[in-house]
Amino acid sequence: MRLLFDKIYHKYYIKDDVYKLYEIFNDSQYWTRTKLLDYQMVLFNKLWKYCITNVRYYNNLIDNNKLLPNSICSLSDLYSIPILTKDIVRNNFDDLTSASIASERFVINSTSGSTGSNFHFYSDTNQYIISQALDMRRYDWMDVNYFDREITIWGTSWSKNKHRKLAGLKNWIRNKKLISGYRLSDNDINNIYNLFKSYNPNIIKSYPSILTTITEYMLKNDLRYKPDAIHIGGEKLYKYQKEIIGECFSCPVFDFYGSRDVGDIAQNCNKFDGLHVFMENVIVEVVDDNGILIDDGEGDLIITNLHNYTMPLIRYKIGDRARISKDKVCSCGRNLLLIDEIVGRSFDIIQFPNGNRVGGTFWTLCMRSVPGIKNFQVIQEAQDKIAIYYVPDHESIVNIERIKQNIFHYSGYNVTLDFKRVDDIPLTKAGKMQFVISKIK
Ligand SMILES: [Zn+2]
Repeated sequence: MRLLFDKIYHKYYIKDDVYKLYEIFNDSQYWTRTKLLDYQMVLFNKLWKYCITNVRYYNNLIDNNKLLPNSICSLSDLYSIPILTKDIVRNNFDDLTSASIASERFVINSTSGSTGSNFHFYSDTNQYIISQALDMRRYDWMDVNYFDREITIWGTSWSKNKHRKLAGLKNWIRNKKLISGYRLSDNDINNIYNLFKSYNPNIIKSYPSILTTITEYMLKNDLRYKPDAIHIGGEKLYKYQKEIIGECFSCPVFDFYGSRDVGDIAQNCNKFDGLHVFMENVIVEVVDDNGILIDDGEGDLIITNLHNYTMPLIRYKIGDRARISKDKVCSCGRNLLLIDEIVGRSFDIIQFPNGNRVGGTFWTLCMRSVPGIKNFQVIQEAQDKIAIYYVPDHESIVNIERIKQNIFHYSGYNVTLDFKRVDDIPLTKAGKMQFVISKIK
């Protein structure tokens, strides 16, 4: 019934090719690796040809003789295109914006991923269609149905865009309940557990930090619930988290990796031999500290989305690291490239004096709720004392009072928030950016 409704919705209302793409993707996952790479090259060439005539940044690369227009013939030639960092995008925002795409395809978007650094860009409505088709396929990988009952415990953004208006209808079609992951006192978790029992979801989707907090409470109080699948996303999933979540819910825990700036990237299938890259959507490269390509081992992830024509991000350094082994194959028979592990950045859970607990995305979304913050770090000095260091973007005036009110909404007023404007956020001794630190464990 829901499938039929969704098909009608896409065919007559949205008028897109989601179901056709889903059929293609069901087929393409079993193509040979060579055929998949050829397909990526066809998509890339189309994007590249568009970029050199319609996107000034790429046109300038050619003009400055850094590249020849027809020099990209294979995926290994991509290597001659300089890596695009977040700072380059910030400083060349207009030059990276496409000159000739219909305005309705532009969606202003922002992310801070797991890095604590804010970043604005344009998405293409085209990406949403690809994304749903890939979503339907990844639900098959988890042995669940796309329209099965699902509870999503997620961060609720303070910002809004026009595509959120349809979210309610989509959630109804999808049989999906969305609840806030920013209210996790013992009482809130008990209510969430009761909702598991009454709604009986087949799938529970959440950030690993949120689900770990819920799991620890459930295990301590001898509460259990068994869905068909746990769907993880939004943050790095650590091995200990996967183990206790799997123990509490007695079902497979699937790790999904994606980001707003480049879309869906990879996910486990039910053989858990790594995360299969959605090669029909993105080109994934891994480079060492000198920018040299790695076929085997750990390095920085460089991603190219093949379907964003509004602000094409080609060879974009997403800010996460990964371990890959290019020749590894999965026992499921799919020939999509495998990522062994995403090596993400870390943060601590903060518990406020009112008992509520929040994870990393609470802070990233909160800092993004007003313009002007480029980078930040949160340090809980005492349970009721939190220092927030921030680097402003282009000397902007930041509405600190509004951020404080957004935090108080979840923390209660019995906490001191001390904002400190700084020029830079120091890395930890390990060279990593730990953007939320609690000194009271
Ligand atoms: Zn597989």
